[in-house]
Amino acid sequence: MIQIRDLHKTFGELQVLKGIDIDIQKGKVIVVIGPSGSGKTTFLRCLNILEVPTKGMLSINQQTLDFNKKVAKGQIPPFRRLTGMVFQNYNLFPHKTALENVMEGPIIVNKEEKSQVEDRARILLEKVGLGDKMDFYPFQLSGGQQQRVGIARALAMEPKVMLFDEPTSALDPELVGEVLKVMKDLASEGMTMVVVTHEMRFAKEVADEVLFMDQGVIIEKGKPSQIFSNPREERTKQFLRLIH
Ligand code: ADP
Repeated sequence: MIQIRDLHKTFGELQVLKGIDIDIQKGKVIVVIGPSGSGKTTFLRCLNILEVPTKGMLSINQQTLDFNKKVAKGQIPPFRRLTGMVFQNYNLFPHKTALENVMEGPIIVNKEEKSQVEDRARILLEKVGLGDKMDFYPFQLSGGQQQRVGIARALAMEPKVMLFDEPTSALDPELVGEVLKVMKDLASEGMTMVVVTHEMRFAKEVADEVLFMDQGVIIEKGKPSQIFSNPREERTKQFLRLIH
């Protein structure tokens, strides 16, 4: 589903991604862990072209962008539609209801017909457990509920891959579980997912593969059982000691 080759991203002088190579198979859940500032969020944002990579190649669902050449502006919107992004701070429209938030993308970006979109949005909000909150505004919802709207909104665009950028780190501890449950359900339905998170239990239970990133490179990757119980690299060991 995803092929990444020698992906680089620099901000001015700062090299944040220094050559990422990885293939991700359809239906797999990849959890990205690593110290703060190691480039995890930038990596995810590059997959969605919220940040334009400086160099390298990215393929998703057989659509390819080659950043070693000039990428035409017109190539980016269809590529971006392949992935749905869930943000740490939900990024909902504050003056739109939950339902309107979920409907916005398909209507405005995809120019889909409103009645069709509404049916789909209602089904998605039911699916994330918010069937009784569709007409609520974000300020009337808890953080966990807002984030579930955020997930439904990303799903409404019918992406091939879902990207989660620390989706639970702004939440009070008692609200984390309800968001992780929605993510687990999505994973069990076969959605391809890339998740940046500090929730190591989620990584252990749900990830097919864990990537440990440090200083803009993937230091080590493997099954969660291997990474957490038997890491090969010294830097992975150090990181895991710090968070336990
Ligand atoms: P992580 O998610 O692992 O904490 P980030 O990808 O957020 O790491 O950040 C990696 C580095 O890139 C940090 O040093 C950060 O300050 C820098 N960085 C991220 N985004 C920008 C930006 N838009 N402009 C300049 N520097 C940035």
